Amino acid sequence: MKQEYLRKIPAVNRLLQTTEIQNILTEYPHDLVVDLINQVLDKKRRDILEETTDPEKLDLSIEGLAREAKEAILAYMAPRLKKVINATGTVLHTNLGRAVLSEKAADALAQIARTYSNLEYDLKEGKRGSRYTLVTDLLCRLTGAEDALVVNNNAAAVLLVLSTLAKGKEVIISRGELVEIGGSFRMHEVMKISGCTLVEVGSTNKTHLYDYENAITSETGLLVKVHTSNYQIVGFSKSVENKELVELAHKYQIPVFEDLGSGVLINLEKYGIAHEPTVQEAVSHGVDLVSFSGDKLLGGPQAGIIVGKKEYIQRLKRNHLLRALRVDKFTLAALEVTLKHYLREEEAMNEIPTLRMLKLTADVIKKRVEKFAQRLKETLNEVEIRVVEGRSMVGGGSLPLEEIPTWLVGVKFNRISTTDAEIQLRQGEVPVICRIQDDELLFDLRTVFPDQEDEILEALLKVNR
Ligand SMILES: *Cc1c(COP(=O)(O)O)cnc(C)c1O
Repeated sequence: MKQEYLRKIPAVNRLLQTTEIQNILTEYPHDLVVDLINQVLDKKRRDILEETTDPEKLDLSIEGLAREAKEAILAYMAPRLKKVINATGTVLHTNLGRAVLSEKAADALAQIARTYSNLEYDLKEGKRGSRYTLVTDLLCRLTGAEDALVVNNNAAAVLLVLSTLAKGKEVIISRGELVEIGGSFRMHEVMKISGCTLVEVGSTNKTHLYDYENAITSETGLLVKVHTSNYQIVGFSKSVENKELVELAHKYQIPVFEDLGSGVLINLEKYGIAHEPTVQEAVSHGVDLVSFSGDKLLGGPQAGIIVGKKEYIQRLKRNHLLRALRVDKFTLAALEVTLKHYLREEEAMNEIPTLRMLKLTADVIKKRVEKFAQRLKETLNEVEIRVVEGRSMVGGGSLPLEEIPTWLVGVKFNRISTTDAEIQLRQGEVPVICRIQDDELLFDLRTVFPDQEDEILEALLKVNR
């Protein structure tokens, strides 16, 4: 019986001769097309052998199989990294690509991608230049630091600093600051890789200045402070301020390195967001090297930015590891523009999407959400729409406890279950990622660009069909 069905499956060659596949072959490589046809046919064979489907219901016609193969080929060639609409309200959504670049920064990146550039060419002198000096003065101006260096990401920055300043030496760090960051970056593991000996001091919830002082030996190479950006120790707790740590370390001629994680250049308190230590504060408190990410609250491209004392930055530049961690031209193009936005605070707050979204007040969002909900009500039948209060998140391992008041559109279909609707939205032409709570879809417009509202409406209409 099974054999009979198996015999019905045509040979690859017969499918290759169909008009459908012949058309596909004018655009896509022969080997790939053959591979994907084979995959479709193998799947049919398995379905028959494992009796997963009623064999009568399997379409084994040449036309049917050709159509299926065509779909498989088109799906294979469709973009894998693609635009999605973030309606979760989490501004720095790590799974959705963290910070979104400003229009100008994105344009600069696209421009540089298309042409030769002066990446490592000094146009004034007509000789070899350095990629590392392109944004140095901007970083120094914005942070007050003497010198700066940009690498691939903040994890790379931490690795470079530790391996340059403390290889083969002891590094003192508070037990409360031995962080783990998403993507399995653990401070104590990075120390190991860097060839440092970790010296943990204090307890999980409390570390005092004398804990550091008692741990200092002739082997101490560095004191490290990590901003616990993705968690907080609250209650009976104590940590040492970077200012006090600097005073202590310098008494013993030991440098201090602070990993700020996010690292912001603007005091966000002014905009109703919880205080996140600024890079300027760390620099002015005398921290010798400060590192932070380019694509967290800074709102730029993925990068690890290190600022601080000239003598230490120069030592980082001489470490051969730098070559393996180096920043690329696309990052530099986007970072330059992002940093220039910061020369005027108002411009940064308006042009950089991360900051623009974070500063939106609940009132402003409510007006937008009410308008959008009204449109949905007028367009969608058999769907329950309501406007509800909620909370947006900063995300990206930044300000974990900060909940920003927002308003949401709640959507519930009569024709389809909430879980199925979520799947369809997620797997649609332009994926829409939203939240589900109590059997209702929730859309937070904080992270939705105004021109994406039409696309959400479109996607909802499709689900409701
Ligand atoms: C996010 C973070 C890092 C890693 O930064 P990436 O730019 O993602 O490599 C390191 N340290 C802290 C404290 C962080 O919050």
